[in-house]
Amino acid sequence: ARFEDLSLSPELLKGLYVEMKFEKPSKIQAISLPMILSPPNRDLIAQAHNGSGKTTCFVLGMLSRVDPKVQAPQALCICPTRELAIQNIEVLRRMGKYTGIASECLVPLDRDAVHVSKRAPIMAQVVIGTPGTVKKFISFKKLGTTRLRILVFDEADQMLAEDGFRDDSLRIMKDIEKENSKCQVLLFSATFNDTVKNFVSRTVRMDHNKLF
Ligand code: AMP
Repeated sequence: ARFEDLSLSPELLKGLYVEMKFEKPSKIQAISLPMILSPPNRDLIAQAHNGSGKTTCFVLGMLSRVDPKVQAPQALCICPTRELAIQNIEVLRRMGKYTGIASECLVPLDRDAVHVSKRAPIMAQVVIGTPGTVKKFISFKKLGTTRLRILVFDEADQMLAEDGFRDDSLRIMKDIEKENSKCQVLLFSATFNDTVKNFVSRTVRMDHNKLF
């Protein structure tokens, strides 16, 4: 498999080759990217551990779905920890270096930060954050969900292990579904216990594929 066969933009191919120095898709990328990127842009559930190259799958998915002319959040990724959110946005910024796509990381603010209610609405096209902070921005109407085209849950098993994060994730999902039935959902998890299966059954609506 080659990245050229995935109908990625020239800017993203340049990011992969020049900035990331990747040569060809890993196994999970070769299997999942055609499904993520091409119509009907199905929902996808992937069992993937760290080191498999899963980050590239959803980063390319998010960057590919963004319409650069639209200045509003179009891709959202939810992560269980601040560190993972920051790590993911760093990968996204490198891979998307030549695209001009704007991104913002929403992680718990320190006490001196301006309160969410006083902040300007998020204009970035891609947002990556933790469940509680993302939920807060949505509920204060600082993160619009009507233009979202892709929603990613990274390390879902870690996230759902915490009750608060599970509730926040379900709430985010519901808010998005209410106004926006066309949003693609991707869920990545290292393990599939009953909690993850239950969450999947409540959030992923269309055909889905499970990868190993
Ligand atoms: P991940 O599982 O997404 O955290 O990726 C694990 C590591 O593999 C990271 O250091 C990536 O930079 C690297 N990686 C991901 N995809 C590729 C690829 N297609 N070619 C070479 N390295 C890759």
